[in-house]
Amino acid sequence: MDVLKDKKVKTRKLHVCHGCGESYPAKSEMRYVTSKDGGEINSAYWCQTCDEVIEKNWDYSDLQNGIGFGEIKDFDIPFWENVNSKY
Ligand SMILES: [Zn+2]
Repeated sequence: MDVLKDKKVKTRKLHVCHGCGESYPAKSEMRYVTSKDGGEINSAYWCQTCDEVIEKNWDYSDLQNGIGFGEIKDFDIPFWENVNSKY
């Protein structure tokens, strides 16, 4: 999987985070990533919590291999909630 675009955005409408499956209202700060897997282009929004959990618990090769929907939170829910409590 190749990452084509990776940027921080302030959302203009509600988006569901790919990492935890939670929805975040407009004007949330999220990471917007566009990637290419085979011939397929995918884009996903990631919340700040998942961003931080990825940084601490996962490495870049995991992202390259692809992370399933909701997997960041499901993998370690107490850890995710602990990080989430800061935001
Ligand atoms: Zn998330």
